[in-house]
Amino acid sequence: MANDQPILQLKDVHTYYGNIHALKGVSIAIPKGGIACLIGANGAGKSTTLMTIFGIQPATSGKIFYEGRAIHTLQPEDVAALGVAQSPEGRQIFPTMSVRENLEMGAYLRKDKNEIAKDMEWVITLFPRLKERISQLGGTLSGGEQQMLAIARALMQKPTLLLLDEPSLGLAPKLVEVIFETIQQINQDSGTTIFLVEQNANMALGISDIGYVMETGKIVLTDKSAVLLESEQVKKAYLGE
Ligand code: ATP
Repeated sequence: MANDQPILQLKDVHTYYGNIHALKGVSIAIPKGGIACLIGANGAGKSTTLMTIFGIQPATSGKIFYEGRAIHTLQPEDVAALGVAQSPEGRQIFPTMSVRENLEMGAYLRKDKNEIAKDMEWVITLFPRLKERISQLGGTLSGGEQQMLAIARALMQKPTLLLLDEPSLGLAPKLVEVIFETIQQINQDSGTTIFLVEQNANMALGISDIGYVMETGKIVLTDKSAVLLESEQVKKAYLGE
């Protein structure tokens, strides 16, 4: 029987940084097994949404449910232990550790050694550039390679839900395409639900099933991504048409 319960649900979430009201009543429901995206301009509150889900910047009010369980009071490590992984904006890989050590760090919560080795093989097959640089220090990688490493490290956690913050940021167009194709492949290979935050609305809507549009801390529009791609409002504001 189909399970229609969303894997992740935000209900009227408000988040503040001191006096700054960054999220103003955000409600989001992400179906299990697909790709959902959150698009919006610089400063709209996209990164804050991910940080609030993960417990880094906790909600001031409202509720967040992961697989039906309330998580809005949990610490990030407890959210991670439930099966949520994040690849943060700005990558935040460990610069003085090798690529292999960075990937091993991603699996630090896991005990299934054989499975970890298999997943290591899988992620370096997904990102062959990482295989070539497996012994190199993280800090010596290019921006695109660091982005790949951040995503691959999150995958080593074997998440059920993967949160990706602006994976295309600062990358050359060719590499952006590679990253988005790989995101789709991750979803297809492993069934991992992906919640993608992006300023690149065209690419994000192109690979996702559903989309949310955020403006100054509020969700202003949500629909199937294919519908949003054709929406005059989205075209004008986010697709440069
Ligand atoms: P970007 O694409 O630039 O990352 P965003 O949509 O992810 O933008 P957020 O980074 O979530 O937006 O920012 C939302 C609002 O919260 C903005 O007004 C921003 O200035 C503010 N903000 C973000 N981080 C902090 C912080 N650490 N302290 C104070 N205000 C913050």
